[in-house]
Amino acid sequence: MDIIHEDAVVIQPLNNDWYQNKVAAMDMLRLDLIHPVISGNKWFKLKYNLQQAKVKGYDSIITFGGGFSNHLVAAAAAAKEYGYKITAIVRGKYDVLTPTLKDCIELGMELIFVTKQEYANKENPEWLQTITDTKNKLVIPEGGANEWGRLGAQDITRYILEGYTDVCVSVGSGTTLIGLRNALPASVNVTGFVPMKEGNYLLDEIMTHLPGKSKRVKLFDYWHFGGFGKWNSELIDFMNEFHKKHEIPLDIIYTSKMMYGVKELLSGERPYFNDGARVLCIHTGGLQGNISVKGKLEY
Ligand SMILES: *Cc1c(COP(=O)(O)O)cnc(C)c1O
Repeated sequence: MDIIHEDAVVIQPLNNDWYQNKVAAMDMLRLDLIHPVISGNKWFKLKYNLQQAKVKGYDSIITFGGGFSNHLVAAAAAAKEYGYKITAIVRGKYDVLTPTLKDCIELGMELIFVTKQEYANKENPEWLQTITDTKNKLVIPEGGANEWGRLGAQDITRYILEGYTDVCVSVGSGTTLIGLRNALPASVNVTGFVPMKEGNYLLDEIMTHLPGKSKRVKLFDYWHFGGFGKWNSELIDFMNEFHKKHEIPLDIIYTSKMMYGVKELLSGERPYFNDGARVLCIHTGGLQGNISVKGKLEY
């Protein structure tokens, strides 16, 4: 069960003048290329969840997200592709729909809006039953953050060639990072970049899924640019420059902040990566979200 284009995934070297011989190699794994809507890591987190719907004989799915959630659009597109009905419980009430939510509706997703306070009950099955009938429906948590999501994220390592010493990835729930850490050789360092204020609290939650593997996981939450979904002209300029140099479009929420962080980690007196490091940065997709900054980006 795979609707993604495996052949479309490439490992693209970044120009050496960008990392200035401070490491032995720096490449990007282009998961953004696998599908125009179900892009990046979201497909991997969804695939075994969808398989569960099939195994259980369900024809409907319920999932959760906010108005800018890449997970919601990816889930809507994947459900459509596989012929499942899908309902999203959306966090917050919107007078004007976001472009993301409009896309979800266009893809056939039913949206049920609840207040932020109500949404806090999202993991309570009894509450959910009061919102929508859950009988014979597969419930996928926000961001695909469950054991099937973590298992699917492990499959990303199929595309990671041997020889990398470091893997860098953006972190939202940490599901992707957990899958990667669990499937990569123990010797590889995994560095996560959290694009939100004080996101380091996620480390404890992540570690509960990585028993005995705490050594080579590091999270950075410095490069949040004011908080989740926030940005400034410096970040926009960085994205435009990055695109000019590498012809790689980054997204405004996750991968731009990660690459900004990677660049910062390369500078300074005591570089974070070893001289001989071979670094692979994972492009987790999310490009649909750039519609919120359309006109500012030169791509
Ligand atoms: C959702 C998302 C992430 C975060 O993934 P988690 O598995 O929740 O940590 C990272 N990058 C992009 C582009 C995303 O859309």
